[in-house]
Amino acid sequence: MTPLRVGIVGAGIAGLACAEKLTRQGHQVRLFERGRGAGGRMAARRLPTDIGTAHFDHGAQYFTVRDAAFRRRVESWVADGVVARWPSAGVDAHVGVPAMNAPLRRMVDPDSIRWSATVTQIERCGPGWRLGFDRDAAVEVDVAVVATPAERAAELLAPVAPDFAARARATRSEPCWTGMLAFAAPVAVTQDCWRGEEVIAWAARNNSKPGRVGPESWVVQAGPDWSRTHLEADPAWVLAILTKALSNRLGVGLPRLAGAASHRWRYARSGGEGSGAIFDRERRLGVCGDWLVGPRIEAAWRSGDALAERIGGDGGCDRRAP
Ligand SMILES: Cc1cc2nc3c(=O)[nH]c(=O)nc-3n(C[C@H](O)[C@H](O)[C@H](O)COP(=O)(O)OP(=O)(O)OC[C@H]3O[C@@H](n4cnc5c(N)ncnc54)[C@H](O)[C@@H]3O)c2cc1C
Repeated sequence: MTPLRVGIVGAGIAGLACAEKLTRQGHQVRLFERGRGAGGRMAARRLPTDIGTAHFDHGAQYFTVRDAAFRRRVESWVADGVVARWPSAGVDAHVGVPAMNAPLRRMVDPDSIRWSATVTQIERCGPGWRLGFDRDAAVEVDVAVVATPAERAAELLAPVAPDFAARARATRSEPCWTGMLAFAAPVAVTQDCWRGEEVIAWAARNNSKPGRVGPESWVVQAGPDWSRTHLEADPAWVLAILTKALSNRLGVGLPRLAGAASHRWRYARSGGEGSGAIFDRERRLGVCGDWLVGPRIEAAWRSGDALAERIGGDGGCDRRAP
């Protein structure tokens, strides 16, 4: 099999799962990620406060494991100490250790990834593709893979694969306003996580997850309807509303706030297009991400893994011009 040069746009768990398998198959993989580090929507954030640095998983909170292949991957992360169970959220709840992005950091091959690299254009280049960037020089590859949220995929794919772009546009992500609250003392409740509707859909004591250090820290997520209604609101106003809602939800007064921040996820929870992954062998173009399966970490991993199987599984593409 001739090794292919595969360029993957986006180093979330879908892009990294795709990269891992293609690399194992002997292909030359390069990842391009607009962020400065691994995470995507499994991001983690530090917040300096007057009582020390607070840590938050401000995207995905935990993940469940159903698929046999994903279970094997998770077991290897557990053996490596970068994933553990978090019983507070349920018997099958797993989290990254010491932060949600830990398994992604483990998946990254530093030699094959370029950080702070936003792909702005995908254009034809012979039988393959040229990836254009906001700053750096363009890169030529045999196969292009788009592993971004659906809305971003639609933008990139529209000029070169309007049919793929239309599929991405047909699914819709939900937004999520998130509050990160660090307290000077523990909040006086015994339960570590709470599910609700509006305003607050989820609240959790982040420092109750395994391996966390630092001050008492809570993540508060607004529900999708509330987040959509207030998408363009002032972040400070959102933070004040979420803090008040947390106190009401828990039914206790909150300790002194040592630090706080908010984050607006415009595309938090994806839809579920249902096809698993998209690959067109003739066009040498692939697409993966949670939105092709469902709004979960496991779904994103399965999509990336499935795409790699389709690109490389039956001999890949012929590198000669078709
Ligand atoms: C607030 C929130 C709560 C969630 N809670 C849970 C939960 O509890 N359990 C669960 O299972 N799932 C949860 N999810 C969903 C889960 O995080 C996602 O399903 C999963 O992480 C998606 O992975 P992905 O690789 O498909 O996409 P992403 O993680 O979004 O990765 C895509 C990557 O592409 C990069 N990118 C985008 N455009 C470009 C470009 N033009 N050039 C270069 N790079 C680009 C992005 O920076 C990003 O790193 C939650 C998500 C959010 C935001």
